[in-house]
Amino acid sequence: MKKISIVVPMYNEEEAAPLFFEAISKVISSCPKYEFEIVAVNDGSKDKTLNLLLQTQETFPNLVVVDLSRNWGHESALLAGLRTCTGDAIIPIDADLQDPPEIIPQMIEMWEDGYQVVNAKRKSRNKDTAFKKNTAGIYYKLVDKLAGKVKIPQNVANYRLVDRKVLDDVLAMQESNRVFRIEVPYIGYKTGEVQFAREERSKGVSKYNFMMMFNLALSSIIGVTTSPLHWTIPLTISSFLLTFLSIVLETIFYICFKCNVFNSISPLGYACWLIVNVVMLVASFIFLVLCVIALYLSEAVVETRRRPNVIINKVYKK
Ligand code: UDP
Ligand code: MG
Repeated sequence: MKKISIVVPMYNEEEAAPLFFEAISKVISSCPKYEFEIVAVNDGSKDKTLNLLLQTQETFPNLVVVDLSRNWGHESALLAGLRTCTGDAIIPIDADLQDPPEIIPQMIEMWEDGYQVVNAKRKSRNKDTAFKKNTAGIYYKLVDKLAGKVKIPQNVANYRLVDRKVLDDVLAMQESNRVFRIEVPYIGYKTGEVQFAREERSKGVSKYNFMMMFNLALSSIIGVTTSPLHWTIPLTISSFLLTFLSIVLETIFYICFKCNVFNSISPLGYACWLIVNVVMLVASFIFLVLCVIALYLSEAVVETRRRPNVIINKVYKK
């Protein structure tokens, strides 16, 4: 019997978790041909999530509970679950039912048809705020543009089915900066798609604040490309050209002034204005270049430290 692992990171999900297990139980009973394993990762929750998971395990023996040493964040919690799960196909999912479990049978069907990755694409996100919709739209387009040859699927987050072979390749990647949704397309393999409408969170509140979204975007960009470092070259060339142009213009102004071309109107004020603007523009270029270098340098420091991405306190299995 083939085994399907469902990996669900949870941070303060005591309200949403019971609804999640209710929904997932229905899916499991609708797929009797498969063995299911649920790997729930307690990401250092401050509420009763861990107790609730351990209680659920009493009636749900195929639930594996991974308890982390502290709150590590969504991506690291997911990684801990992915390292623990043992299925032939693996499905990461959020706990709040914004990723509807009802499409899991469809994903499994496509996997059986030979797709090694089955993306769950958000075809509409009417229940999301305008801010989230817009920033998410920009995020996916930008990351795809920067990723070059690697096609980053639009509006596909972590919810997808991956074959064991694909997961093993993801887990073999050594970097500290982990963003699952860009690692899977990087690896490749035959990819299919199932669409769904993104609903509101079942219970509780979103754990992603603006800074977390910003950091995810930054990690994704740094993870897919080093090309911003190369853009510093045209910026440097532009600075040289601008400086050269301003020297030429100032010389022309000076000659005109000496030859009294302007009939006693002094062009020095204009020259001064020109210099100030060129200096400010060139200074902005320099700061931009420094900023890009600083971002990649900090990433390089993190990577050289080789600290663990996540630490597991205990795995509870029945
Ligand atoms: N999550 C986590 N650790 C965190 C933040 C979030 O494990 O530090 C989990 C959370 O419990 C949920 C999933 O990641 O299962 C997605 O979080 P959320 O629904 O809050 O994000 P949103 O849907 O608002 O982007
Ligand atoms: Mg959510």
